[in-house]
Amino acid sequence: MMEFKATIGGKPAHVSSDFTVLNPATGEEVGRAPNMGGAELGAAIAAAKAAFISWSTQSDEALQAACAAVTAKIEEHAAELAEIITLEQGKPLNGLGSRWEVGGAVAWAGYTTGLSIPVKVLQDNEQGRIELHRKPLGVVGSITPWNFPVMIAVWHILPALRTGNTVVVKPSPYTPLSTLRLVQIINEVLPPGVVNVVTGDDKAFNLGAAMSAHPDIRKIVFTGSCATGQKVMQSAAETMKRLTLEMGGNDAGIVLPDADPQKIAEGLFWGAFINNGQTCAAMKRLYVHESIHDAVCDALVAYAKNIPVGNGMEEASILGPIQNRMQFDKVSRLVADAKGRGALLLGGAPGEGLFFPPTIIAGLRNGDALVDEEQFGPALPIIRYSDVEEAIRLANDSPNGLGGSVWSSDIEAARKVASRMACGSVWINKHGAIQPNAPFGGVKASGLGVEFAEEGLAEYTDIQVVFA
Ligand code: NAD
Repeated sequence: MMEFKATIGGKPAHVSSDFTVLNPATGEEVGRAPNMGGAELGAAIAAAKAAFISWSTQSDEALQAACAAVTAKIEEHAAELAEIITLEQGKPLNGLGSRWEVGGAVAWAGYTTGLSIPVKVLQDNEQGRIELHRKPLGVVGSITPWNFPVMIAVWHILPALRTGNTVVVKPSPYTPLSTLRLVQIINEVLPPGVVNVVTGDDKAFNLGAAMSAHPDIRKIVFTGSCATGQKVMQSAAETMKRLTLEMGGNDAGIVLPDADPQKIAEGLFWGAFINNGQTCAAMKRLYVHESIHDAVCDALVAYAKNIPVGNGMEEASILGPIQNRMQFDKVSRLVADAKGRGALLLGGAPGEGLFFPPTIIAGLRNGDALVDEEQFGPALPIIRYSDVEEAIRLANDSPNGLGGSVWSSDIEAARKVASRMACGSVWINKHGAIQPNAPFGGVKASGLGVEFAEEGLAEYTDIQVVFA
């Protein structure tokens, strides 16, 4: 049983109650996390506010050195963090699972460490000199979901630190343990109070809601569902917080008539089923031209049916269970409805506990719930189309706009279609391949602002223009 204390002001916090964390592969209790309320949150914010005074005046070199030390710490503990993720989140150690997640966290932390935002000279002539400076904001509140608990926490924490802010991070109640441990580890190389963590079960007290309204938090960086992100935005208005909101997606992929079904099958599969489909920018709807529809379905099914699904602690498992009961019930409902409307090509029947096999259903249309809603699980709807204009219209007919993809042997033709997709990232012959050097964010209801690269880093700062 894993039990980690929350770190506030560099010290373990004493909290009188805790809550259970389940292993989604077995349904058994895997650990306990502190169940914190308003008093503990207040202490964490106060610690971050106090630490900001000296942290924000560190030299750029000192901030960079501290971020390098944080990166090294995460790398040193990579195996341990991966095991905690697998036990609480369910994704396998192997494949594109928890080791890969922690590897990504290290890569992002390292890249972010190397970024900087130098002073920009806007004018320098006889009329005067004008400089644009980027100033840290203060206390950043980070609210994370349960799908990539460590990687997303690192996406939030590192740019905040790099730009001279201090942090209070709040993980999902489903996956608090890896974040509690991450914060312990990185506190070994940071001054007290620079990074603090609070955890709670979201029942008697909602920490995320309290953070969004708290006057001493200057920015919220939130990754999670659209419904919750909207609540964050509403309550942040009162105190004029800066916001980065990375919310849900319902990404479309469009397969053009000249694509090679055999060549694209593997990419289509992982574009849709990475982390069991519990990925914001996973492909959640696939539009395939009628001329190659059946060949694409056959190739995809042939690839998908050999993917081993099982307990993530076993090296043979490449996909694990769905992370929690709420999500499992949602996927089950959407698949049951879609089975009655289309043709089931693979999977479709819930397994034991929270296991659900990779499921592919063809013959669906916009308007069917599995196409219109974000399933966030291992079930891919395939929609047949006859005209590319129609496919583009159907792909864009969604309130979301996180990612999208076009699949073709003709890159120029694919680029033309890609440029017309209403989404923040668009890929050709792959899907969801995000990188630390490319800004990532949603359009429409999928969010506000971007993460990663210089553009993402800038969101952790206010501009101050100096006229001399
Ligand atoms: P969720 O919105 O239920 O929870 C996200 C976080 O918000 C959790 O920490 C939760 O405790 C907290 N929270 C709950 N109520 C809150 C409130 N009133 N105010 C503030 N915070 C509150 O999301 P989830 O189910 O954990 O994650 C799945 C969703 O996240 C999917 O929709 C997925 O697409 C999205 N997601 C988006 C991205 C992205 O980068 N765009 C990445 C990963 C996941």
